Amino acid sequence: MPIIINGNDVAREIRYEIKAKVGALQEQRGIIPGLAVILVGKDPASRIYVRRKTEDCEEVGFFSREFKLPENTEEHRLLSIIDELNRDGRIHGILVQLPLPQHINANAIIDAINPRKDVDGFHPYNMGRLFTGDPFHQACTPYGIIELMDRHGIKIEGKNVVIVGRSNIVGKPLAMMLLTRHATVTVCHTRTKNLSEVTRRAEILVAAAGSVEMIKGEMVRDGAVVIDVGINRREDGTLVGDVAFSEVVDKTSYITPVPGGVGPMTRAMLLTNTYNAATRLSSAQ
Ligand code: NDP
Repeated sequence: MPIIINGNDVAREIRYEIKAKVGALQEQRGIIPGLAVILVGKDPASRIYVRRKTEDCEEVGFFSREFKLPENTEEHRLLSIIDELNRDGRIHGILVQLPLPQHINANAIIDAINPRKDVDGFHPYNMGRLFTGDPFHQACTPYGIIELMDRHGIKIEGKNVVIVGRSNIVGKPLAMMLLTRHATVTVCHTRTKNLSEVTRRAEILVAAAGSVEMIKGEMVRDGAVVIDVGINRREDGTLVGDVAFSEVVDKTSYITPVPGGVGPMTRAMLLTNTYNAATRLSSAQ
């Protein structure tokens, strides 16, 4: 029988653990982890993500600051807020919600964040540390996928892993994390030939393409672990993943649903990174 991984339960467990550690950190060292979240524009999905991240902070006892800036905010204004937050001793983590409006250079914004406060793990410094096998802050979604597998006792070492998607925020950092954990990793994209043949070899298959139910039953090997990162909104407003769940589920040993699989883990790992940033920054001072 396949095990349907409940990301909400694992994320709740992580929040519970962090809340306990925050209490101890405050008592023993007088430190309260602080997260600043910056939203530019009115993208409805981004607004929901930002609200939930602030609620998570409240739940675990973090200090948080939320910046909601208009769509026409100029790049230099955003850079000056980041500069202020880089110097704000109450803030240990800075997150700029992506995507940013077209007129703002997202790379320049990420580069401006102090890498020690880059709790999204997108700064080239953090990407480089991951690449060299000595990670500092790790990108939240792939980090959450690793944590989900670890907490379910899914062995990574020596496994054939196929990732569909090569973005900087999911596919590429996940590939590096899995390599560090001694998996054999194949990364696929839109130019990959005979995709089904490649995915059928996967003992662990990760779908991160942003394409509605593109992973069909015949693309999955019997007994595979299937991780669905996709969050796609149908016209009727319902959420659906990159995996055709109903035709794939019975072939798997473990599978994540959408919603309620990887999604909640991304937020939980943001809290983990912020907690770690607070302990490390305070030790460095
Ligand atoms: P991007 O659009 O940045 O990247 C998608 C990747 O998938 C690209 O590398 C693209 O290839 C590849 N791809 C797309 N279609 C196909 C296809 N038919 N066959 C093979 N490869 C394909 O997306 P993101 O990485 O940002 O996000 C991927 C999905 O994950 C989205 O649904 C997003 O909403 C979701 N997501 C979920 C998160 C969570 O917390 N659960 C967090 C982040 C993202 P190419 O490079 O050739 O274009």
